[in-house]
Amino acid sequence: MRLHIFWDQLSPEGLQLPAGRMIAAVTGLSAVVVENPVRIMGFVNARKQIDAQVQLDHLAAYKHQHRITDPILLVVSQDLFNAGHSALFGLAREQTGVAVISTARLANEYYGREPSDDALIDRIVTEGAHEAGHLLGLGHCTNRECIMFCPDTLDELDGKKKEFCAACRVKLEEKLQPQIDQI
Ligand SMILES: [Zn+2]
Ligand SMILES: [Zn+2]
Repeated sequence: MRLHIFWDQLSPEGLQLPAGRMIAAVTGLSAVVVENPVRIMGFVNARKQIDAQVQLDHLAAYKHQHRITDPILLVVSQDLFNAGHSALFGLAREQTGVAVISTARLANEYYGREPSDDALIDRIVTEGAHEAGHLLGLGHCTNRECIMFCPDTLDELDGKKKEFCAACRVKLEEKLQPQIDQI
């Protein structure tokens, strides 16, 4: 299984390769990063945000149309929301194998802090690996340092390590094992 990372042209330039490599290292998936071929959809002008569900509908349609069976992670720069949340770091839809994350609230600048590419890459990796975990069937974890912990704030996101806890790692490895049918 290979994780396709679709990096939108408005997403931070030059970070796609280090972020992709680190997401691959953290998840144990191989990953391929390409320029996003999918249109940005669901932008609500009044909110200046993208409806993540609409974007995922469109991404799933693209995936189906192009017969891509591997999971896809889309990285966009626009802020995200959905029906249940006024803002989201990211959203995954396991059934169709598609996820989207936004870099909008991952950059120090958003919080009036000094810009840092290293901090931004770390957060893209933490959030990207989290959504990839969902695409592999993992749920949320109560361990605050685990990739699968669901953060509400930037500090909670930064409190996570770039790794899955032992329990989540076991589940992940089960998913990544080649399936062997019993004879
Ligand atoms: Zn989650
Ligand atoms: Zn965990």
